[in-house]
Amino acid sequence: MTTKTFADLGVAEPLCRALAAQNYTTPTPIQAQSIPALLEGRDLLGLAQTGTGKTAAFVLPILQRLDPQAKRPHKGARVVILAPTRELAIQIGQSIETYGRNLKLRHTVIFGGVNQFRQVKALAGGVDILVATPGRLLDLMNQRHADLRQASVLVLDEADRMLDMGFIHDVKKIVAALPKTRQSLLFSATMPSNIEHLAAEILNDPVRVEVRPEVITVDKIDQRVLHVDGKRKRELLTKLLDDSEMSRVIVFTRTKHCANRVSEQLEKTGIAAEAIHGNKSQGARQRALDQFRTGKARVLVATDIAARGIDVTGITHVVNYELPNEPESYVHRIGRTARAGKSGIAISFCDASERSHLRSIEKLTKRPITVVATTEWLGDQVAVPAGEPADARPARNGPRGPRHQPGKPRRFGKPGAGRGRPQGGQKQSRRQSAAQ
Ligand code: AMP
Repeated sequence: MTTKTFADLGVAEPLCRALAAQNYTTPTPIQAQSIPALLEGRDLLGLAQTGTGKTAAFVLPILQRLDPQAKRPHKGARVVILAPTRELAIQIGQSIETYGRNLKLRHTVIFGGVNQFRQVKALAGGVDILVATPGRLLDLMNQRHADLRQASVLVLDEADRMLDMGFIHDVKKIVAALPKTRQSLLFSATMPSNIEHLAAEILNDPVRVEVRPEVITVDKIDQRVLHVDGKRKRELLTKLLDDSEMSRVIVFTRTKHCANRVSEQLEKTGIAAEAIHGNKSQGARQRALDQFRTGKARVLVATDIAARGIDVTGITHVVNYELPNEPESYVHRIGRTARAGKSGIAISFCDASERSHLRSIEKLTKRPITVVATTEWLGDQVAVPAGEPADARPARNGPRGPRHQPGKPRRFGKPGAGRGRPQGGQKQSRRQSAAQ
């Protein structure tokens, strides 16, 4: 079977040129499945999460179907894309910019937490595509700054997250303000019953596309766990970062407070780090992301919500400084590395109180995570408190691993490099090799 190109899917030349400039050669599965149906004008229910290429899957057909000659509605938009967070909205805006660079279409992104003046101004002249978070859009609609009566396409991105964040009523009010005859798309990583209901309400005979990236993504990621006393996590992180191959690293914490503390600590030791979490202003978050994206900050310390939808390419390592209590969050987190088919490395710190989280994660991902001993970095300390069951105790020098040369930092290596024999001497699973 030959692999399809974007042109084979029906994507027009100016868009293909923009994709080629991004070095996108092959459509991802969600793109291959969605683009032809969306180009025909069908509604779509997409079960997929960030990292699958879903943004391009809906942005490309939208751009292609918009007639550049058509009039833009006064105070309105021809396409409305709703996203749960500012970060995701901004990223969708950036994708529109990138893929639509050879077209003359106007778009704008609006979200809360900033002055509305510029958003009102952008809407006043009318736009082709409006990307918005629900709260601010509804606010502007109520003030009569936004009029969606001419919109012909609606996209709900990360619908499950939108509902989790309490946007259901806002979303419903916005949908009610759009014409009934329109093309509607709904993307969600999960399909609980409230999403099923919402989909049934707003979609008309949709094509259902399902991409389950977790297994594939997780398989491409070299996952390690280090059992460590909670008090020594900071020291361990700093020592791990002696390895220059950890060049673009996201560190996840559970709380905002911890994110701040870790980034301050890293800065003190001379490692350029930025923190991103819900207590930071939009400007501060954007600055932090830019610093990280451009490589000025080597480490981004983030909480789960803040990191949602962040799209930075070339992340070499994800460090779970604290394990999430939701195992699904672990998959989301480590999916920040190994984007779009690349491989990556995820390192998790686990203290005694987090063992149950680790077990839930292993149950979800259906495989044990390789244990690496902390002795390389923290000396000959046993990290597991006395009284733990023997099988919870980490191997002293990694499981069946080759002895590490003392005095040299253990390298977690380049993502994808030397994956044939992961450190610690573990054999690759058949699934892993197949995924490469
Ligand atoms: P998304 O799931 O939309 O957040 O996309 C995940 C990442 O994959 C983004 O960095 C995209 O730029 C990238 N991407 C999307 N489609 C492709 C493709 N066909 N080839 C290579 N990279 C892609």
